[in-house]
Amino acid sequence: MSVSPGSHTAASEIAPAIRYVLAATDPHAHLFEVTCTVADPDPGGQVFRLPAWTPGSYLVREFARHFVTVRAHGGDTPLQVEKIAKDTWRVAACDGPVSLVAAVYAFDLSVRAAYLDASRGFVNGASMFVTASGKEERPCELDIRASADGFAKDWQVATTMTPVDTNDRGFGLYRAADYDELIDHPVEMAALDCVTFEAGGTRHEIAVTGRHDGDLSRLARDLGRICQAHIDLFGGQPASRPPFQRYLFQILVLGDAYGGLEHRTSTSLVCKRDNLPDEASGSVSDDYRTLLGLASHEYFHAWNVKRIKPAAFTPYDLSRENYTRQLWAFEGITSYYDDLLVLRSGVIDIESYLELLGRSISALQRNPGAAVQSIAESSFDAWIKYYRQDENAPNAIVSYYLKGSLVALMLDLKLRSESTATLDDIMRALWERYGKTGVGVPEDGVQAIAEELSQLPLDDFFQRYVHGTDPLPLEAMLARIGLRLRYRQAQTDNDKGGSAGKTSSPERCWFGVTTTEGSDLKVRHVYAGGPAMKAGLASGDSVIAIDGLRATSALLQSVLQKRKPREAVRLHVFRRDELHVFDVPLESAPLDRCWLEIDEDAAAEARVRRDAWVAG
Ligand code: ZN
Repeated sequence: MSVSPGSHTAASEIAPAIRYVLAATDPHAHLFEVTCTVADPDPGGQVFRLPAWTPGSYLVREFARHFVTVRAHGGDTPLQVEKIAKDTWRVAACDGPVSLVAAVYAFDLSVRAAYLDASRGFVNGASMFVTASGKEERPCELDIRASADGFAKDWQVATTMTPVDTNDRGFGLYRAADYDELIDHPVEMAALDCVTFEAGGTRHEIAVTGRHDGDLSRLARDLGRICQAHIDLFGGQPASRPPFQRYLFQILVLGDAYGGLEHRTSTSLVCKRDNLPDEASGSVSDDYRTLLGLASHEYFHAWNVKRIKPAAFTPYDLSRENYTRQLWAFEGITSYYDDLLVLRSGVIDIESYLELLGRSISALQRNPGAAVQSIAESSFDAWIKYYRQDENAPNAIVSYYLKGSLVALMLDLKLRSESTATLDDIMRALWERYGKTGVGVPEDGVQAIAEELSQLPLDDFFQRYVHGTDPLPLEAMLARIGLRLRYRQAQTDNDKGGSAGKTSSPERCWFGVTTTEGSDLKVRHVYAGGPAMKAGLASGDSVIAIDGLRATSALLQSVLQKRKPREAVRLHVFRRDELHVFDVPLESAPLDRCWLEIDEDAAAEARVRRDAWVAG
């Protein structure tokens, strides 16, 4: 927390700390009891407020809806609590210390809120800890209480918050410099599987909860190499040191899940059981590579967004949306480096990396929304669009993660081929100027630093690809490092691209829809400009027959495989409870699956550039 921007003044050092108590009181009702005590409440009545969103996840979530009961007392005397807004409480004035006590419902398996049952407790602080208004800069103390009940007897606490007085299982008193630091240290409580490793001379911990039989020592070994690649990127030389004394990967293992949330010295991850590596296999499976990429992504955030922050987040206003057009830089550049640093660490090889890159390019190809929304706009509207996707999302929005990562790639290749700078240099400069100082990055800050370091005019680049919707000239840019971009049709509906696919695959048709199959075959997305949209199909339609036969996913695939472009297919469809008939003329499937080949005949300078790009 040496570089925490919320540095406190001498005055706040002597002001009494805000004290919190967290108790797992009723696991079967999924209720935590959380108490916030202020020693010197405001004379007019102390106001307490809960954040509406959590840093790292740009949606107003209104966490206060999970506050089931709220009461207050001053010493032994109950005090009146008045609710004055959806997330704000005012406690009647009193002379001595005042405590607000809330019973909070916690049954969210995501990394953004809180969870409690008899097997596990998890708290992301923004969803649980109220601020004492006007005292946000004060130091905070958190007492994590061990339950007296039997259910938690083998629980340990995993958090990187600074311990003050804790027992051997981690229960007890912790301290944070201010509220911002308090809520940036998620707390996991369970019977944990723990392993540790060193990277940059610094202790890293992995704490896993959930049933699994993964090989955690292999995970530690691989993450050690990956973390060192991050540390060296920002440090500018091998065997650098990170800007923290300790780091924790909290991993919740479920049957099928995927997600992560970054924090300054830890990350909370949720993954599926198959994402963990097994002991038997030495190769990196598709599933395991996904987990390594996720962990790498969140670790990169320890620099890019947790310390190098947009000016709009310095400080955060957690009561409402915080607008910035820069999420593409904080999420997109991070998405570019997450897999690239797994490659640079040597844990995966170039072929494996190019498969991932090919899949990313394929995903963007299938996204008509990339032609109507820029990544700057997508960043700004994340609160109402990216985080609130509906059936029309593929046609209306672009992901600032996905396209942002490819714009970062393009910028890197442009710098590498037209200047002496690289995107690595840009990241180091951002770290020196903004990360280490705590000053927020202005809205045009990335462009300004890139222009300064490369001495290239980049306004046209940023206008076209960041603020505009021009198609990305990836083929030409990748040729500069001796990579050939190739295109083909999808061979199945689940085809993600990334590889050449079956060479003898016949021409395939498409409808321009995605479907889900439950008791019936339902249209999920209808792609703009595709045959189904032209014919009038809509999301939610239940397809009951295809050319007079009962509709199934298998029949649909067979029709697309066997029939020829321009042939019409008759669909019987229920929209709500009304029967409709559509004749859909088939079209040849677009060439929207991509893969990359290493061009061994590329010019020498392109091959040299490619080697430098891989080596970092
Ligand atoms: Zn991210």
